[in-house]
Amino acid sequence: MPLGQGTHEVDVLVVGSGAGAMTAALAAAQAGLDALIIEKAAVYGGTSATSGGGLWITCNHLMPGVGIEDNPEDAAAYLTALTGNDVPAANVASFAKNGARMLRWIMETSHAQFIAMAEYADYYQHIPGARPGGRSIDPLPYDARELGDDFLNMQVQHRQVRVLGLMGYSNIEGAVLLSKAPGWFKLILKLSWQYFSDVFWRLRSRRSRRLTMGNALIGRLRKSLMDLNVPIWLSCPAKELLVEGGAVVGIRAQRDGKDVTIRARKGVILASGGFEHSQALREKYLPNPTSTRWSAANPTNTGDMLVAAQKIGAATALLDEAWWGPTIRIAEEDRARALFTERSMPGAIVVNKQGKRFFNESVAYTTAVQAMYQPGNLPSILVFDNRYKRNYPFGPLLPAEMHLNWLQPRHIRKNLLKSAPTIEKLAAQLDVDPAGLVETVSRFNGFAAAGKDADFNRGENAYDLLYGDIRIKPNPCLAPLAEPPFYGIEIHPGDIGTKGGLLTDENAQVVGTNGQPVPGLYAIGNCSASVTGRYYPGAGATLGPAMTFGFLAAEHIAGRPLT
Ligand SMILES: Cc1cc2nc3c(=O)[nH]c(=O)nc-3n(C[C@H](O)[C@H](O)[C@H](O)COP(=O)(O)OP(=O)(O)OC[C@H]3O[C@@H](n4cnc5c(N)ncnc54)[C@H](O)[C@@H]3O)c2cc1C
Repeated sequence: MPLGQGTHEVDVLVVGSGAGAMTAALAAAQAGLDALIIEKAAVYGGTSATSGGGLWITCNHLMPGVGIEDNPEDAAAYLTALTGNDVPAANVASFAKNGARMLRWIMETSHAQFIAMAEYADYYQHIPGARPGGRSIDPLPYDARELGDDFLNMQVQHRQVRVLGLMGYSNIEGAVLLSKAPGWFKLILKLSWQYFSDVFWRLRSRRSRRLTMGNALIGRLRKSLMDLNVPIWLSCPAKELLVEGGAVVGIRAQRDGKDVTIRARKGVILASGGFEHSQALREKYLPNPTSTRWSAANPTNTGDMLVAAQKIGAATALLDEAWWGPTIRIAEEDRARALFTERSMPGAIVVNKQGKRFFNESVAYTTAVQAMYQPGNLPSILVFDNRYKRNYPFGPLLPAEMHLNWLQPRHIRKNLLKSAPTIEKLAAQLDVDPAGLVETVSRFNGFAAAGKDADFNRGENAYDLLYGDIRIKPNPCLAPLAEPPFYGIEIHPGDIGTKGGLLTDENAQVVGTNGQPVPGLYAIGNCSASVTGRYYPGAGATLGPAMTFGFLAAEHIAGRPLT
């Protein structure tokens, strides 16, 4: 409600418009509170909209439907083993207890709908309590027409999850395409037909109206907010927190270039993402070397509210951590591309300057970068052969066997990868020790023939197999690098967002450096220190907690449970 020139007042002010932010605003509105979302960018959705849109929720009610059992004891054992002393035990317990409750609530009361991914294994299969799938859930595709003109205000999906930069696919469809499971070609034809035959929509937008992954999640949440008349103010960056009598009572922001004060009668929820695109904060907190150019996350996430809250005495934790992922950067794109699958597919290895492998390339992306940051492993180089390039997509390049490479810009085709007819010559081009690389490839090819990676046990658990090729035997994650030409590229120790931030309690209330909650202030998502500590328990472990703590923050502000 406007109060006068440049001043507005609401019950709950949410800063940022990712999935956690929208869930918080939705819960607040359902509790009868007057909620407002403000967003720095000209579009809403943040990294959440560009993501896979998957949520990781233990003991969720969709698991029995795909035949996977879960129970609170196993969930707690798994999370506790991963978080140790890095995260307050009450926060871990709160997520384990309330994630499934949030999911049931949101599916029963909004347009947000999901399906369990039976084969998306938790990332640390050796930890007791891990599940081979089911805790990761995929948003159902959504029709952009439901959003009317507001669709055009949504952050575009990341290029890396659009075929030819055009068509989206769900996580479950992506798995079929990547593994070339039965029906993959029919699926390509179906997606292409849906896109190209949609003539009237094509006149309106180049973007597909079949929203998938993060766009489906944000589209569904946005529509749910529209039903409850919750506004989003775009191009409205929050600048500083307003404190009165020791409590946060609002923020100062800019709207249309003018200063504006927004007072919040009941609470401010910070959901403004991490600091991945601030070079200064990266250098201050993350391991070095580091670069904003290596981040695949949303460019407007520059840690503004982290700094603002630190100024008023908020405590922080885990600032040296990120949701790591090896990345590459295409010059003219505005963010990096995360290599979720490429290094795992059989026939690719990662080596250091000595030409030596230093980890199991099929581990989850966070673990991969943790290995890259070990002394002596940067720069890290991904190497593969022609058989690999023929069969699997790499970054913007489709598998060569699909004969569609001519659709890619020439400079990408020609300049992205170094290539050479022999391993020695490739090593020379990449400034890697040739003898070391030749020896490594020969040793690895022996492992591939035997089906056993004697150095790093690649391909020996359910997660590794996720990006294996079932046609390759005996080990779907191991194929020799034997067919010239050979290819190589330096990969970066990048991220899909930072995960350290404001210290919060089990209700998402920000904790001050005095150990007490800061009245009126909440933080969720990558603006807060992650409930998963230094690890990435499974696909969706950033969005699942962000939405759960968004829901809990709103319930705490409302002073009553919604379910
Ligand atoms: C390709 C890719 C795939 C991914 N897939 C998954 C997945 O399937 N599952 C999963 O869990 N995670 C996934 N992630 C990671 C996940 O998307 C992010 O960790 C998550 O979206 C972060 O949510 P957030 O709400 O903290 O930030 P965001 O979603 O980025 O939202 C933050 C918003 O705050 C805004 N903002 C910043 N500063 C201000 C300010 N001063 N004032 C107002 N607004 C501000 C930003 O503009 C932004 O819109 C993926 C990431 C990438 C890049």
